Amino acid sequence: MTEPEVCVIGGGPAGLAAAIALRLAGASVILFEASQPPVDKACGEGLMPNTGAALSELGVRIGANEGYPFRGIRFVDRGVNAAAGFRGSNGLGVRRTLLHRALADRAAAVGVELCWNAKGVEIVDAGVLFRSRLFRPVLIVGADGLHSRVRRKHEMDQEPSSLRYGFRRHFAIAPWSDYVEIYCHRQRQIYITPVSSQQIGVALLTANPHERLADVLPLFPNLSERLRLANMISSERGSPTVMRTLKRVTKPGLALVGDASGSVDAITGEGIGLAVEQAIALGHAFRVGDLEMYERAHRHILAPSRLLGRTLLALSKSDSVQTAALRVAARCPMLCDAILAAYVRRRSSINETAGMESTTVSLPNPERLNSQS
Ligand SMILES: Cc1cc2nc3c(=O)[nH]c(=O)nc-3n(C[C@H](O)[C@H](O)[C@H](O)COP(=O)(O)OP(=O)(O)OC[C@H]3O[C@@H](n4cnc5c(N)ncnc54)[C@H](O)[C@@H]3O)c2cc1C
Repeated sequence: MTEPEVCVIGGGPAGLAAAIALRLAGASVILFEASQPPVDKACGEGLMPNTGAALSELGVRIGANEGYPFRGIRFVDRGVNAAAGFRGSNGLGVRRTLLHRALADRAAAVGVELCWNAKGVEIVDAGVLFRSRLFRPVLIVGADGLHSRVRRKHEMDQEPSSLRYGFRRHFAIAPWSDYVEIYCHRQRQIYITPVSSQQIGVALLTANPHERLADVLPLFPNLSERLRLANMISSERGSPTVMRTLKRVTKPGLALVGDASGSVDAITGEGIGLAVEQAIALGHAFRVGDLEMYERAHRHILAPSRLLGRTLLALSKSDSVQTAALRVAARCPMLCDAILAAYVRRRSSINETAGMESTTVSLPNPERLNSQS
């Protein structure tokens, strides 16, 4: 068995996307995931338009019947209704398990060695130890999520600046809107994502770890009424959601991607998109043998979402400010559309910048990855 150049630890969206991008950049890649596929997770399951574009760039295809397109985002707060539509491409609601399967299929198709149910992977000074085999890759990728052990092991951890909790369930009901709807009430949000023609995802975001969907639905009478007769078709899954920024996401021979590399609150609906964009940037950096390029690209990719996350969290802290902001937004739908369009454009331009950088060099020089500071 030949020695892989890259070991990816974690096979969620970030790890799989990074494995694909690095494989496309010419690396031999092995990926270790502790669970069996398809891996599920508490998630709002909304992919913004730029996420679809980034997935396509990696050759990841989601079938027409596997998701549900949405045209924009609508905020609902006690009768106030403010919507912003995308210009150009739609977003896509898609079950997490289907997304995982599409990523895993693509990773297998491009030749990534996939080790599922890989429990007990250890990072040691000499490399990566798994079932008594020592791997000495050129690059280790930490894609092991919010509580990354790879990050901790390398002393790159930072305290989150905000901590909340998300819980999601699915209901068998035809979507009543082709927008993702975000219902707001006192620092908590419920968001509704259409994920197929007969299913919606319902995700609660709250600062209270003991609160569950069933407890808070009565606070949203219109929504409760809609869901009253619909069957719940998945069990409740929960996960923390944090705002966290790291000082660095690389060390010689090591790169962090996805939630392991810092994250934004789930209200932004951006975690998966960020992970895929970071993966693409890491592939480009590997190709030219320069991890600093990834370090810079990562900062660039995360910045707009951090600003969005901070703004939305700040607004949600005061009911009156939030309602006032939504009232203004509801009166100026064109302004909302323009803000959302500018945001999506900014994200797309980030992807394009990363792509342009990569076209200037094509020869892999992975040896240099270990000599960056
Ligand atoms: C309630 C909620 C709603 C959200 N809604 C959205 C949304 O609508 N749109 C969006 O884009 N984002 C959303 N997000 C964010 C998104 O879910 C995350 O950003 C995304 O899952 C990050 O992917 P990841 O691969 O970095 O981490 P994860 O998905 O957490 O994957 C990490 C993987 O690493 C594996 N792992 C961990 N440790 C090890 C180990 N030692 N060895 C091997 N494997 C290991 C785990 O099993 C896991 O599969 C939401 C998050 C929450 C909590």
